[in-house]
Amino acid sequence: MDLSLKLSNVPKDKKSDFLRKKLRELRLLYKVDMLTDRHKNIVSLSSATLRLARNFFKCQTAALLFTDKEARHRQFYLALGLETDASGNDINLHLKELMHKTVGTGDSADIVNRDSEASAELTDYILASFSVSDRLCGALMIGNREKPWDEEDLHYLRSIISQVDNGLEHAFLNQKYQRSRKLIAREARKLSFVYEISLSLGKDEDFSSLCCRILESAMQLVDVNRCSFMRYDADTDELRTEFAIGIPFVKSQLTLKLGQGLAGAALKEGRAILSSRGSSDLRFIPFNKGPEDFPSIVNLACLPLIVEGQPMGVLNFSSTDPSYSVTPDELAALEVVTHLIALAWQKQRLYQVSIKDELTGMYSFRFFKQRLQDEMNRANRYESLLSIVMFDIDHFKMFNDSYGHLAGNFVLREFAAILDDSIRTGIDIAARFGGEEFVLILPGTPESGAVLVAERIRTLVENRSMEYDGQSLKVNVSGGIRQFLPGMSLDDFIQNADQALYVAKESGRNQTKGFSTLPDTIPLPS
Ligand code: GH3
Ligand code: MG
Ligand code: MG
Repeated sequence: MDLSLKLSNVPKDKKSDFLRKKLRELRLLYKVDMLTDRHKNIVSLSSATLRLARNFFKCQTAALLFTDKEARHRQFYLALGLETDASGNDINLHLKELMHKTVGTGDSADIVNRDSEASAELTDYILASFSVSDRLCGALMIGNREKPWDEEDLHYLRSIISQVDNGLEHAFLNQKYQRSRKLIAREARKLSFVYEISLSLGKDEDFSSLCCRILESAMQLVDVNRCSFMRYDADTDELRTEFAIGIPFVKSQLTLKLGQGLAGAALKEGRAILSSRGSSDLRFIPFNKGPEDFPSIVNLACLPLIVEGQPMGVLNFSSTDPSYSVTPDELAALEVVTHLIALAWQKQRLYQVSIKDELTGMYSFRFFKQRLQDEMNRANRYESLLSIVMFDIDHFKMFNDSYGHLAGNFVLREFAAILDDSIRTGIDIAARFGGEEFVLILPGTPESGAVLVAERIRTLVENRSMEYDGQSLKVNVSGGIRQFLPGMSLDDFIQNADQALYVAKESGRNQTKGFSTLPDTIPLPS
């Protein structure tokens, strides 16, 4: 019976049957309408529609394909009632292809009963394609039923389509919108990340902690759960893990030669390597010999860090969770991160050069002044102790005249090494004040303590024979000590130490003087 007829055109004896079928159609439309109201997500709306279709037609299989006409790869496909074993996958492929062909044909429909060409799993079906808008189209299929398909079934199927298509379009677009929102959020994260790095490049932070900070943000950017930095030592030709984030056991002292393992290969070839096989990659060298509680890596990206053409190390981003892995797109983002780290490294090196004295490798006067001011501020704030010692090599002009400038340079380096060895690492600071004058900053130290330190150094120098070019060289030093007083200016602080040094010189050299022990009338340095 043709259900698209007007009631007036239906023969009298068929009217009651016609009305019964129309009522059935109305009920069906009402149910589909309820579904579109309830399900706003494309997966749930589609599966609910397919379940309803299977119940309504009393068939085994129902499938839906929904696609963007301009970008065919953007599609949604769902099938119910197909076998899910190996051959089931084949039938899915076959069905998808069939629906794809139909989708392009506009509003059309096929009724196929007992199709000998179709796979054994799909013996009969109705396949109807439809357009929702200029952009979106789809195909709905119902199949595998004992009873043959006819025009009435097709009519009901079209009714379902007419009722559900707008709901599907809405859900499909909503999904696309959510995806774009995610992409935008990721782009925003990238931008804020680059911004954050550009800010941190301005800070005088040591390289390792800066690098660590950059990497922590980079991990957010690409959603990996582990990251490490292996530093390359050109002398031993070895890569060794310097620090790691998210890896609980860095007891592994894994070293790789250039070209060895994924990291070594990345550095040797000077290009990033992305391995989607992780620790199953044949090139991968495991951290520990045994499997002991090291979760296997499912995805690994190794990026070489090359600064001014020199190999410096490798950044490794890895994931032990299959849901997080570095994509080729993200690898490109990580390459930007690596460039930023290379820049930070370069900047750090330039900074180190600028604050260090070339001859002795000690901090320069510029850095000394800056650090002294910091320490004075701290002493003012916390009322803590602080002293400085000013050293000057005795009769150094004469020394140079007798042994030559190069021997003088050697002595300056030796004296710098003695100072370095005599102070507390990470607390005290030694710097070259200029010429043959050196200075120590001793936080938390009163004048008496600083005098002890200065005397110890003076005696060391006095007793040291410095072997240079077959000669045994000897020098003496004099020192002036000043303890910081709250509110004191930087210039006064330094000048007072200089005055104490002057008195030490005037008193015969090879001695140290604390400012507090100076006579009331101090002769001014000439
Ligand atoms: P005093 O005991 O009073 O300190 O006498 P002095 O000769 O050490 O003092 P003066 O200030 O007259 O001379 C400092 C000398 O230090 C002069 C200079 O040649 C030498 N000097 C300064 N910088 C360097 C350097 O970088 N290398 C060498 N070899 N000598 C330097
Ligand atoms: Mg001098
Ligand atoms: Mg001198």
